[in-house]
Amino acid sequence: MKIMKFGGTSVGNPDRMRALIPLINDNDRKIVVLSAMAGTTNSLVEITDLLYAGNVNEASARNDTLKSKYEKVIEGLYSTETFKKAGQELIDSHFEHIRSFTLREFTKLHEKAILAQGELISTSLFQLLLEERNIRSVLLPALNFMRIDKDGEPDSFYIKENIKRELEKHISENIIITQGFICRNAYGEIDNLKRGGSDFTASIIGAAISASEIQIWTDINGFHNNDPRFVEDTKVIRELSFDEAAELAYFGAKILHPSSVNPARETNIPVRLKNTMEPEDPGTLITSNSILLDYKAVAAKDGISVIRIRSDRMLMAYGFLRKVFEIFEAYRTPIDMITTSEVAVSITIDNSEFINQIAKDLKELGHVEIEINQTIICVVGDFRTERTGSAPEIFEALNTIPLKMISYGGSQNSLSLLIDTTNKIEALKLLSKHLFNQII
Ligand code: ASP
Ligand code: MG
Repeated sequence: MKIMKFGGTSVGNPDRMRALIPLINDNDRKIVVLSAMAGTTNSLVEITDLLYAGNVNEASARNDTLKSKYEKVIEGLYSTETFKKAGQELIDSHFEHIRSFTLREFTKLHEKAILAQGELISTSLFQLLLEERNIRSVLLPALNFMRIDKDGEPDSFYIKENIKRELEKHISENIIITQGFICRNAYGEIDNLKRGGSDFTASIIGAAISASEIQIWTDINGFHNNDPRFVEDTKVIRELSFDEAAELAYFGAKILHPSSVNPARETNIPVRLKNTMEPEDPGTLITSNSILLDYKAVAAKDGISVIRIRSDRMLMAYGFLRKVFEIFEAYRTPIDMITTSEVAVSITIDNSEFINQIAKDLKELGHVEIEINQTIICVVGDFRTERTGSAPEIFEALNTIPLKMISYGGSQNSLSLLIDTTNKIEALKLLSKHLFNQII
């Protein structure tokens, strides 16, 4: 059994939804995971922001606008009056539900319930489309089996048990449709796996049922060796290891949600990235045994802040870094990159929500400096410790760009650098030119 996850643009309009039918309608048994239609979750977030701010009228107006977009979708999606009517009833009930939250005091619980509507709608509309075409399928509500624990991590045991039970009810069905992104939390309330979390859903389900393959379908042929938004002539990487994919996803390649690598890696299930616009293209295959290349890809992650701590107390001392790390832990702020000297340490973070509190606490330990608007450039390739000669090529390529931090040796398959975001595009182009011999 395989998992096929289609993202927001792949279900983004009636034509795109119809284009999925030939991709899923074969004799293989599969679970189809769908995101909300592109733009919907953003609109729902705007509505919840307005409700938090007490701006009920504007929230209701946005709700109406979103509803009318869906009315157009229904008009274009179904060909018979019966199904148009069924689609309309479905939309009416979801938007009535959203509207009901404008009438009471707004809480986090309500926010999560509203954000869940995008995936609930897209899966129902799609299932109805299959029904209109007389294609057998079944809708499996993610809220019946997908759950996170108190730390927000997937509750693997619960998920495994419950999805197994749910699947047993539909033994003779080949097409099983479910929602990405949404789940219940440890208290049974509606929750979600955070923005972009549908990939994570696909991978969690794949691991839970020991799928033969987890396919993530988007609108690009797979991981590219550089960011196609900034560099021309990028090439698709056909094979990646789980570790390489995790680094690329984490450090900026938008195609795959970084959390989604873990469940697949732990259960050794291949992940394949495919393009709905070019289904014959093999895409990128992620497995545990991908071939090594000197350089495979470059990715960039913006929105990074660097915090530098300098302290004479660090000299020949032990326990200093522990004190530093404890401060980040207290504010639940993950560290991305770290470099140290005998009397100073530089640390990068991408979540700067608590940066001022962190800096204040760090001042107890030494002199603190902060710089924002930084970018991490990650080069994925063969950086095994016994190798020679890979770093100089990278430094040579970037010899006109100030390098703020260099992280080498932390991972066998990547080297990371910190630069000012203003230098990012130039750095990406130079790396493509020097490492991949691309003409730019
Ligand atoms: N619809 C959700 C979002 O936009 C989840 C996803 O698309 O993966 O974040
Ligand atoms: Mg996505």
